[in-house]
Amino acid sequence: MRKATAESSVASYAGRKIWITGHRGMLGSAMVRSLADENAELLLTSRAELDLTDRLAVLAWMEKNRPELIFHIGAKVGGIHANSTLPAEFLYENLAIQSNVIDGAHRFNVHKLVFVASNCTYPTNAAQPISEDALLTGPLDPNIRAYAVGKIAGIEMCRAYNKQFGTNFVAVVPPNLYGPGDNYHPQHSHVVAGILRRAHEAKHSGDAELVVWGDGTPRRELLHVDDLASAMKHVMQAPTTHDLYNIGCGHDLSIAEIAMTIADVVGFKGKVVYDSSKPNGTMRKLLDNKRILALGWKAKIGEKSGLSSAYQDFLDRYQTPQLRGYAQA
Ligand code: GDP
Repeated sequence: MRKATAESSVASYAGRKIWITGHRGMLGSAMVRSLADENAELLLTSRAELDLTDRLAVLAWMEKNRPELIFHIGAKVGGIHANSTLPAEFLYENLAIQSNVIDGAHRFNVHKLVFVASNCTYPTNAAQPISEDALLTGPLDPNIRAYAVGKIAGIEMCRAYNKQFGTNFVAVVPPNLYGPGDNYHPQHSHVVAGILRRAHEAKHSGDAELVVWGDGTPRRELLHVDDLASAMKHVMQAPTTHDLYNIGCGHDLSIAEIAMTIADVVGFKGKVVYDSSKPNGTMRKLLDNKRILALGWKAKIGEKSGLSSAYQDFLDRYQTPQLRGYAQA
């Protein structure tokens, strides 16, 4: 725990130069939305303009553009399948990207940086709810170990730079995210997007059953992406005294409860059935959110309204070539 100082907080975003890495992704675009009315100068770099794995290019860009605050979101992300087949790419690219951005933030005197880690950084046998202190206390899920180790290195880099150079770099750990901008790929999506899509398709093809993976008993803590963006804004502004914050809503739901809520939102009237040939994965990973509550933030978007906004996003994008392509996959 560090002392809160004036340097660790940000009084206002107005007029500040803010770099959001990964602004085209689900969380990055939520971050852009959440900062739209702050009169800040948003610095946004597409992959074509700036390859974040290229150290010299990143340093040259930072020297020229001089961001004052950074939301470091850009990373190679993917589902369990991509993670288990491409572990080298996940580890190399994410280590390179975060080393370049975090070290650059120190070299160019960035006032504060917020880095997004992942709940897979915690050991699979961590006590529930999982506190920030559980980091590096046990074995990781072997399917996503390379990705998790990359994110752990990012958290540790924030800590190390704070310790050695007195920087203000803070990492946040979200639970399972959902919301506008999600990936609705039939096999590669996460639980909410996967079930939303199948519920929609089952409804429209008049199927009697909605198939849900696993046996319905694992529990997941869901967080709407706009809630995570608001938490990150809060962490950036608040006088943080820790270098790691869990951003949880404080409760989880069984997969069966999630499926029934989604069926309700979509208007699917048939039966929910379970495909036990698909893995349950981790049974529970509820985050301890005491630390972020003490900093004065709490989640505002309930599951019912959050899932409705996610479904609306799905409907808006369903006819796009991208999602039609997925339908044929
Ligand atoms: P995880 O939290 O990293 O395991 O990520 P997911 O968001 O993929 O959630 C996986 C959990 O949801 C497992 O218990 C799955 O069995 C269950 N699940 C049920 N239906 C689906 C689905 O359509 N897609 C995914 N990804 N998971 C599903």
